Amino acid sequence: METFESLLAAVAADSGREVLNPATGELIGHVAQHTEKDLDAAVEKAAAAQKEWAKKSDEERVAALMKAADEVEQNAGALAEIICREQGKPLSGPGANFEAGAVVGWMRATCATELKPEEIDLGDGKKATVHHRPVGVVGGVNPWNWPAMIATWQFAPALRMGNSIVMKPASDTPLSVLATAYLVNKHLPEGLLTVLTGPGSLGGAISAHPGFAKITFTGSTETGKKIAEAASQNLARLTLELGGNDAGIVLPDVDGKEIAEGLFWGAFINTGQTCACLKRLYVHEDVYDDVVGALVEVAKQMPMGDGMDEKNVLGPLTNESQQKIVADLVNDAKNRGGNVLFEGEVAGGDKGFFHPLTLIDSLPADARLITEEQFGPALPIIKYSDVDDAIEQANSVEVGLGASVWSKDPAKAAEVAARIEAGTVWINSHGTINPMAPFGGIKQSGYGVEFGVEGLKAFTVPQVIHS
Ligand code: NAD
Repeated sequence: METFESLLAAVAADSGREVLNPATGELIGHVAQHTEKDLDAAVEKAAAAQKEWAKKSDEERVAALMKAADEVEQNAGALAEIICREQGKPLSGPGANFEAGAVVGWMRATCATELKPEEIDLGDGKKATVHHRPVGVVGGVNPWNWPAMIATWQFAPALRMGNSIVMKPASDTPLSVLATAYLVNKHLPEGLLTVLTGPGSLGGAISAHPGFAKITFTGSTETGKKIAEAASQNLARLTLELGGNDAGIVLPDVDGKEIAEGLFWGAFINTGQTCACLKRLYVHEDVYDDVVGALVEVAKQMPMGDGMDEKNVLGPLTNESQQKIVADLVNDAKNRGGNVLFEGEVAGGDKGFFHPLTLIDSLPADARLITEEQFGPALPIIKYSDVDDAIEQANSVEVGLGASVWSKDPAKAAEVAARIEAGTVWINSHGTINPMAPFGGIKQSGYGVEFGVEGLKAFTVPQVIHS
């Protein structure tokens, strides 16, 4: 069984880019900085490996991936420690242990999902059968917020469907992805799953490389646009999972105490650094004091600090630039007349990239904390009196990833949900993604979906046989 030390030693380099713990500033290790030459070599190897892998039956591929999932499960504690020390999310709560478990869960769910050929009756005794063939070699570029889990969202369906993949993690969180791939690769043929580490420009080189038949990207809308442009030169297929600015609408029939914890984790899972987490909360005036009061009470119970200390459930921002962005947006909100409802404490975090948990209301609708995607532990709360107005405000942004409606009335909640412009709308929860249900954004939150049958299909090309 791996320990934190043995797993780190297996994947870290002797020199290269320094990886720092965002909670303490301490050096965790170094990672290699791969070049375009390394990329060429990895693509060549991946192409050869894919040819053999595609010849295997689905059962053989599933068997290998299930063994790899068991391997991750057996070493989940060591992986979680790498995630915690590198990305900052605490071991406790829905944190690093949860993320390591999600790697296993997603791999197994990907194996359990069935994508069968589809038969179309053409009449006169003739039929067309749609087969889902592998795309070929896939390029994956992933972000720093849920590094191991999001890398799994890319490699698991790609491999299941007979492809190979070359992935680049974000510069701040390469070790979590290298460690995941190291465990998985113990059960896969060489060259199928390769992780290259390096700066954003290496991601640019991946998106422009003619060896990739598909690029799958999770990250910011800005980078997604650059990737789409580069990939268009080779007409590589694309899945883009981009930024969000999720709204939650609380209807006037709720009980504040019943929903407060769900609202809290909807907003602050991973200290707010989650693509589909609650970033704007619209609360009806009839229940405003009740809901806000209950939310503040929950917030008081949630300690922030170094995630290796099991009492902490909120951690630092993953890097200094995120810390500055969040501080800027919160300061701007305060300057625009925002009323701070709650500001948390940070225990022993003076060396890390922390920002205190902040709940704030009385903001003008155009405050940047409301209109821009903020990736941190701050939540603007907006009082509304007319649900049509709340829906209009929820839809007023360029992105459309997730949203939520909170109500005791399922029919009313479903009616409001249908009017929100977002790829996923949760009722009485937020961000509770599930590997069996498709997930993806609309508007500038990207295109394509991940998970479920649709997610598997995204790693295939149709071939239609007429007979
Ligand atoms: P980012 O776009 O800055 O970086 C993502 C990855 O792209 C990194 O690996 C980075 O090195 C690489 N990259 C940078 N420049 C590139 C270029 N020109 N070409 C190719 N690759 C390049 O995003 P981030 O800051 O790491 O992640 C946060 C963002 O990700 C947020 O906007 C968040 O909403 C989004 N996100 C979306 C989802 C989703 O499922 N929709 C999930 C998680 C995160």
